[in-house]
Amino acid sequence: MFKTIKNSLYVEGVKVEEIAEKFGTPLYLYSQTQMIENFKKFDLAFSFFPHLICYALKANSNLTIAKTLRQEGAGSDIVSGGELYRALLAGFNPKKIVFSGVGKTKDEMRAALKKNILAFNVESLEELKVLNSVAKAMGKKAPIAIRVNPDVDAGTHRHITTGKAENKFGIHKKFIFEAYKTAQSLKNISIQGIQAHIGSQITSTAPFVTLLKTLLNYVDELAKAGIKISHLDVGGGLGICYDNENPPSPQELSKAFIPHLKGRNLTLLFEPGRFLVGNTGILVTKVLYRKKSGTKTFIIVDAAMNDLARPALYDAYHEIVPVASKNGTKKKVDVVGPICESGDYFARNRTLEIPEQNDLLAIKNTGAYGFAMSSQYNSRPRSAEVLVKGKKYSVIRRRENFLDLVCHEQ
Ligand SMILES: *Cc1c(COP(=O)(O)O)cnc(C)c1O
Repeated sequence: MFKTIKNSLYVEGVKVEEIAEKFGTPLYLYSQTQMIENFKKFDLAFSFFPHLICYALKANSNLTIAKTLRQEGAGSDIVSGGELYRALLAGFNPKKIVFSGVGKTKDEMRAALKKNILAFNVESLEELKVLNSVAKAMGKKAPIAIRVNPDVDAGTHRHITTGKAENKFGIHKKFIFEAYKTAQSLKNISIQGIQAHIGSQITSTAPFVTLLKTLLNYVDELAKAGIKISHLDVGGGLGICYDNENPPSPQELSKAFIPHLKGRNLTLLFEPGRFLVGNTGILVTKVLYRKKSGTKTFIIVDAAMNDLARPALYDAYHEIVPVASKNGTKKKVDVVGPICESGDYFARNRTLEIPEQNDLLAIKNTGAYGFAMSSQYNSRPRSAEVLVKGKKYSVIRRRENFLDLVCHEQ
């Protein structure tokens, strides 16, 4: 959906330059068609088996984007009371909402119980007991899945791996049985499923298959103890191509899953975030200045780490392309933002066509964990977000202004 035609970058049927001129920069631009396509690909791949795709709202929680996926049939995976609020505003059926996170508060539990969500993914024994007491006070039964920490290495960046024993997530595999036994004994807990989420940007099927087998083993063991599991949730984490990765497609993942699912009476749940929205967005930024320093050439742009934190946080790679190429000479450059931090960069030693002042650049694959992680650091108002469909486009979040920076202060 992002194509360069005659040196001009297009989102679907619209010139990026046209939209950037209209709304200014920095600017997040999304392709709605791409989002729908990603969802359908995933959904179709698992059509052979009862399943539910719960969009991990934290990847991009914009209401219009959430609603787009909801209309395709997605449920949602939430991690806070704020995300529950957003999910409900976006129209998600509570029966398709799962609630993850190691630190759910009682208020968050109450709000989710009131709405009758599909399941709480419980991450500790203490949480389980608190949830039981909150549900009891409301005269309700809390539907749960235990989040297993399977001690599986997802082979991903250390900041986004979540399934190893040293990570804070889930209940360690040693205590799973005890956790389900406890859950069974609690009157206001109703056991529904088993869940794990082993990390993000996973680029091979092997960790997922290992995880599936591990969870199925638990399902069988628990069945022997008279504990019935109705849904198995393998979390999110399916990677996308940022640079030269070759992640499996949902189709490949499903092929690897099929032999293990034969004869199983379960619903399979997924919690993809990045896969659904990562490749649907670009961050458009304008070149302010160029300068040389020692051996370096710096391209200073008007977007910064407050708009897109992934390079600063994870050393993440994002392809950068000119919005209107002039077929100029290429050189190794650093693309940096205006923020007063050395970590404020988008590319280092990257071979790029040298842009001129005021030229536009597109930072690609920024639909996931882009705007969602943005801040106002350095008192920079957050950028606008625009959604494109075909030849049409509209602002789905207006650019913040200076008043937005101070409006909560007293
Ligand atoms: C972040 C997260 C996801 C989504 O991860 P992606 O890598 O974006 O697919 C799913 N489930 C849980 C519990 C998460 O924390």
